[in-house]
Amino acid sequence: MVQRKVLLNPGPATTTDTVKMAQVVPDICPREKEFAAIMREVEEGLLRIVHADPEEYAAVLFCGSGTINMDICLNSLLPENGKALIINNGAYSSRGAEICQYYGLPFINLKLPVDRQPDLDLIEDTLKKNPDIALVYTTHHETGTGLLNPIRQIGALVHRYHGVFVVDTTSTYAMRPIHMTEDEIDFCMASAQKGIMAMTGLSFIIGKKSVIEASAEYPKRSYYCNLFMQYEYARAHGEMHFTPPVQVIYAARQALKEYFEEGELNKWERHRRVYCAIREGLEELGFRIFIPKGQEAELVAAALYPDDPNWNFEKIHDACYERGFTIYPGKVEKAGMFRICALGAIDQEDIKAFFTVFQEALKENHVTVPVVY
Ligand SMILES: *Cc1c(COP(=O)(O)O)cnc(C)c1O
Repeated sequence: MVQRKVLLNPGPATTTDTVKMAQVVPDICPREKEFAAIMREVEEGLLRIVHADPEEYAAVLFCGSGTINMDICLNSLLPENGKALIINNGAYSSRGAEICQYYGLPFINLKLPVDRQPDLDLIEDTLKKNPDIALVYTTHHETGTGLLNPIRQIGALVHRYHGVFVVDTTSTYAMRPIHMTEDEIDFCMASAQKGIMAMTGLSFIIGKKSVIEASAEYPKRSYYCNLFMQYEYARAHGEMHFTPPVQVIYAARQALKEYFEEGELNKWERHRRVYCAIREGLEELGFRIFIPKGQEAELVAAALYPDDPNWNFEKIHDACYERGFTIYPGKVEKAGMFRICALGAIDQEDIKAFFTVFQEALKENHVTVPVVY
């Protein structure tokens, strides 16, 4: 069997051995009907996770990491004379703004504080003043900090002003329960290595067929990364347009099976339990968490570096890594912090074991506990 590692970084996540082993299959050409049937099964499962009616929504698969979804949605879903509104309150929505920049798309970069939920009045005001906004883009969970955005409320505003609502759900999908219509989402996205606990290399967008079909008339800004083209090809041929990540799709199928066996609410309860253990463990050691209680997605805890001359994240990381636990630096400019995440096939006991190791690492490095600021 494969040695088990506990990944407390924000994805790829710890996977089960059954998911790892699902990749070991006889060689197959992905153009075979047998493989097309597996793709269909995966697409159906992906829709079901977000309660999307297959009549109204499609799951479109791509070969790439999660950022490919952001790129595709932004370059494919903006009509000729429309503008995008990026609700920017973290590293991932900043990436969305950069994608707009790279494509030369007209967009409003609505920069908001990164340590709290956005002011909805400000968003409404922006929508009101800019009737040419055709697409609004938000990150559900800013993975760099752990901030949760109130997508249901934002989505209701977007729809009141007749925009298309695109939500980057990469770090919530298949963890926090999501409901396409109740959450007012037109497009969401994720990558197989995060919530579904499968392998890297498969990403997917779930979105409204009517909007994708309308986008056939929009400017084509990319060849490989066009949503309509991929959707249309899959509909006509039951396959991905270009070579799919074959073995990764077998792993995803197994991961979906395990997702439905665990169940939406049980899985969310488990992630929350893991998160609570992380947050409590950090707070007991005196660490300050960047996002206030009640505004976190309860999946990523970002702790501020203490003001201790002996604190050295690299050294602490290496000591934990040697003992099978991976932790991760933060993602806010000029603010030193590290992250401990509740993704993956892990539970409370793993966090308990982690804190034993973490405390040893702090001690070895002569960091004062409780930590000081
Ligand atoms: C992980 C993640 C992505 C995708 O990152 P990749 O490195 O391209 O897989 C996008 N958005 C969010 C919010 C994420 O957490």
